[in-house]
Parts: sequence; C-alpha cells; structure tokens
Amino acid sequence: MEQKTDQTDITSRLLSWYNEHKRDLPWRATEDPYLVWLSEVILQQTRVAQGWNYYLRFVDRFPDVQSLAEAEEEEVLKLWQGLGYYTRARNLHAAAKQILHNFHGTFPSEYTHILSLKGVGKYTAAAISSIAFRAPYAVVDGNVFRVLSRLFAIETPIDTTGGKKIISELAQSLIHPVQPGTYNQAIMDFGSLVCTPSQPKCADCPLQVYCKAYDIKKVSLFPVTSRKVIIRKRYFNYFHIIQGSHTFIQKRNESDIWKNLYEFPLVETTGAADFLQLSQTDEFKHLFPEGITLSVDHCHTVKHQLTHQAIHTTFYKVEVDAGSNFNPPEWIIRIEEKDLADYPVSRLTEKYLELI
Ligand code: SF4
Repeated sequence: MEQKTDQTDITSRLLSWYNEHKRDLPWRATEDPYLVWLSEVILQQTRVAQGWNYYLRFVDRFPDVQSLAEAEEEEVLKLWQGLGYYTRARNLHAAAKQILHNFHGTFPSEYTHILSLKGVGKYTAAAISSIAFRAPYAVVDGNVFRVLSRLFAIETPIDTTGGKKIISELAQSLIHPVQPGTYNQAIMDFGSLVCTPSQPKCADCPLQVYCKAYDIKKVSLFPVTSRKVIIRKRYFNYFHIIQGSHTFIQKRNESDIWKNLYEFPLVETTGAADFLQLSQTDEFKHLFPEGITLSVDHCHTVKHQLTHQAIHTTFYKVEVDAGSNFNPPEWIIRIEEKDLADYPVSRLTEKYLELI
C-alpha cells in the first residue's frame, strides 16, 4: 500500500472535504478560461452572494472575450456598478482587448501569457491555469494564507517577503498533481467555511490532527502580521443640484478612487464642515458664483468604508431657481435628472440615491 506523507494526506483530506461540502456555484460548472477568469475577477474583494448575480449578468451580456473587448468602457463600468474596486472592470476590459489583438481572440493557455494580461496577478493566473488548463500552479489568497499559517504555525509575518515565500512554497508543496484546480478551490472554500478568520470550526476540522496552531492552543494568534492598516479619513461634500428638470454631475478623472465614474459636484474638505463653513471655501464659490440663489432642500450623511479610506460624506440637495443663469464650471455636466441612472456611479453615490 502506498505510504502517505503528511502533505499528501492533508491534500487528500482537503479534497474529500471539498467533495462533500463544495458550494454549488455557477462558475464551477465550467473549465472555459474566459468564464473562470471573469468569476475570479468578480470575486476578488467581493462576497460570493453579491458576486453571483454580477457574474450571471456579465456572462449574459458578454458571453465571450470578443463581445467584452468590443464593448464601450462605459457599458462595462455600468454593469460593474455597485461591485466597487472599479480598476478591476477597466482591467478586465483592457485584457479582453489584449486577448483579441495579441492572442487572436483565443484565451492564452500558458501561465506566463495569462500573467501578461492587464490586471492579472499571480493569484488569478494560477487559478485560471489550474482550473481551465489543469496546470499545477497553487493559488495563494487570503484564505490560503490563513489556513497554511495556522496549519504550520508560521511565525514569520505573512505580510513580509519572507512570510509570503514560505506560504507560497507550502501551497505549492500541497497541490494535487492531477487535480490542481480542484485542490485550489478546495483550500479556498475550506478557508472561507471552516478555517474562518474568527471562530474557526476546529472541533469539526478534518485537518485538526495536523494543525500545529491547534496543537499549541494558539489558533487565534495566527496568521501573524507585522503592521496595522492605516485608514485615511476623507470628507466629501456633494451637491445634488436641481434646476427645473435638470441636475449636474462630473466625471472623476484624476488617479484617485472611482476613476471614470460619475458623481455630483464635490467639495472635499480636510475635516468635517457645516454648510456655512463650506460656503466660504474657494471650491464652493467657484461652483456657485455670487448672485446665484440656492435653497438647501435637505442633507444626508453617509459613511463609506474602503480598504484604506473612511469617507465621511454629506449630500446636500440644493435647488437653484429654474430661471436663473446658473453656469457651473466647464467640467460639470448638465443632464436631465431622469437620465441619472444611465451613468455609472460609485457605491457611495448609489447608497445616497437609494436613500432618497
Ligand atoms: S484545526 Fe482550526 S485552525 Fe487548524 S486548520 Fe482546522 S480550522 Fe484551521
């Protein structure tokens, strides 16, 4: 009988667990690299429940690389609206064009070619290579970091070069040579369902017998990290201006969050500011020159949390007299209020629109 090493036994326990508990997700029924790629990009930093509908909508509208490559970026962003991290959508679109032009419209099968696509990092390239082409590349995402750092009680902080190297090598040593895609999906599912960030289900864990962190009763101390995330506070003041049947929006162009999305005219301040303080800023005076009569209908405050930014926001709904000669700065676009839904906006603006 073949003698199993600890590594091969861990792998086969993971596969058996997966076989019994895997989630029935729409993208799991396919080995089409385009669909695997689409699902992986949608699911980055997104919960499965939320990503599911987006995936189905994307597949319906863009069933293949060509249809995605030929779409207008604005349509891609609109379909992406609400998922956040819009760079993913822009990269997805750019990579589809790359496949069309550099690979004659056929999804590349070699790991290095996959890695050359815009927005595709080692994680996504490994996921596509292993699932769609059965190549033995181990994925290393947040789940894998957590599971392996606990399983092997890795003391080196996982956010250092040394820690990343240790985890990547361990992941690679565990990969199943024949079913690499299944192994990768198994360890990720295991991390999100059993070896969870808080209150992992150690009592029912099939890997408990091998788990060093469990053995030394220090599960909660792993993974070890070296630093805390610094959250930057920002203060946004939006003006939802109504003039007759019109409203006003602007497109974000700078290299900042939400590039190419639309929003109401914005005055960003360095701290919280009330309406009186706002009205004394140069930006406000530029937006509403003297002589324009405004009435503030109501205001809403919304706090929006991004990975590295906490955005404290106040939306002011203001009315400008329909007959007045209101000429906002040239970057502000005047549109019919009823057409607002045609423009891709951030999740923050969407939250406000839902509120009103
Ligand atoms: S025993 Fe607990 S900490 Fe160890 S792998 Fe299982 S769930 Fe994770």
